[in-house]
Amino acid sequence: MLNPFTALQFENTEDAFAYKTDRQLKKAYRLFSLLQWSVPIRIGTAVTPLLLKLGWPFRQLLRATLFEQFVGGETLEETASLTKHLESFHVQVILDYGVEQSDRTEAEKDHCTAMFLKVIAFAASQPNSPFISIKLTALARFSLLEKMDRLMCGTDASLLNRYDAMLSELSTDEVLEWEQVVKRLDQIVPAASKANRSVLIDAEESWIQQPADALVLMLMCRYNKERPVVYNTAQLYRHDRIQFLQDCFEEAVKNDFIYGVKLVRGAYMEKERERAMNMQYPSPIHAGKEDCDRDFDASVVFCIERLEQMAVVIATHNENSNAKAAQRVDEAGIDRKHPHIHFSQLFGMSDHITFALSKSGYAVSKYVPFGPLKEVLPYLMRRARENTSIAGQTGRELRLLKSEMKRRKLL
Ligand SMILES: Cc1cc2nc3c(=O)[nH]c(=O)nc-3n(C[C@H](O)[C@H](O)[C@H](O)COP(=O)(O)OP(=O)(O)OC[C@H]3O[C@@H](n4cnc5c(N)ncnc54)[C@H](O)[C@@H]3O)c2cc1C
Repeated sequence: MLNPFTALQFENTEDAFAYKTDRQLKKAYRLFSLLQWSVPIRIGTAVTPLLLKLGWPFRQLLRATLFEQFVGGETLEETASLTKHLESFHVQVILDYGVEQSDRTEAEKDHCTAMFLKVIAFAASQPNSPFISIKLTALARFSLLEKMDRLMCGTDASLLNRYDAMLSELSTDEVLEWEQVVKRLDQIVPAASKANRSVLIDAEESWIQQPADALVLMLMCRYNKERPVVYNTAQLYRHDRIQFLQDCFEEAVKNDFIYGVKLVRGAYMEKERERAMNMQYPSPIHAGKEDCDRDFDASVVFCIERLEQMAVVIATHNENSNAKAAQRVDEAGIDRKHPHIHFSQLFGMSDHITFALSKSGYAVSKYVPFGPLKEVLPYLMRRARENTSIAGQTGRELRLLKSEMKRRKLL
């Protein structure tokens, strides 16, 4: 693959897997070998949640395989040793309390808020944990977000004007419910600000994204005056996101704050396309991968050229995008550790990129989910499915793991 930035050595498996023992390396190799079997994996990931619910004894098996590869632990305390271990390789950690979408009671949403506050306190006690990650759907009802989004559609007004107009159309109960969501974020974000940490807010389905984007923008307006405390996420598989980034930048200039953004390609492509087809509206997703790649790389450049007003987390396993971004930083004469530039990959994937970036002096992290097995199960099933394609991630991971096994004379 094209690697325009020659100083970055993505092929150096000794560095990439230095943090793994021989036993861990062999386990990872066995796991990725199994993930090649795409048909059984697709069936397995579809039925496993149900079988677990019915009491099938899969817990140990999952714990020793997918969980160990992709998750930091069941509790915050369990992630501590991993966080410390990665620190010795100058790799940072973004902790993600892995709660996935479900119908939560108000008390459960408050519990999630308390957990996020705990994660901030933990991150603040670590030298290499500058961000925490949260999902808005842990704090807000999905169907409320969906309704709010629907009410915001169909006008050309600015995001914040659409948001204001939408609020006046909610019922009294819905307004009260939304106020609780805002209150939860008004606990989390100032706590992070005080602890000198930042909060990354994940992007989810496009049909709940408008109220989320508006709320995050308002939080930035309040808390990102001095430094980027809150970051939104832009999914560049959406064809409207370049324009969105430009609009957000203009808001930042107008209101004098730093716009923080995590750039990703996007995790819900099939679901998005299927919904658009079933409900007969134009798909929000690019027609092809090249368009998505083009917009991702263009967004990276857009942010890097505006670092006085923007802060960016480049979240990708794509070698080309990482190499181009690193090259751009160097060409622009920007410090590789500029506080407004950060790279990130998911724990358990693309170590060759993470460790190459850290060795070359860029700020880079592993995004580490943690939580009880039943909570992180959907995340694990997504990782298993995403890693089944031989042409994609698994092929790459397997080749690198094999090469390191050979180097260590384990094969
Ligand atoms: C640190 C981190 C945080 C993340 N946070 C989020 C988040 O908040 N929200 C979220 O949705 N995802 C998130 N992701 C996942 C991310 O969106 C991608 O699904 C994943 O990283 C794969 O994309 P890539 O850039 O790594 O690699 P690549 O292998 O280069 O790209 C694969 C991606 O390209 C896109 N794609 C593939 N084929 C097509 C096509 N035909 N047309 C258009 N697009 C196509 C899809 O998005 C697919 O996932 C995160 C990823 C990381 C590393």
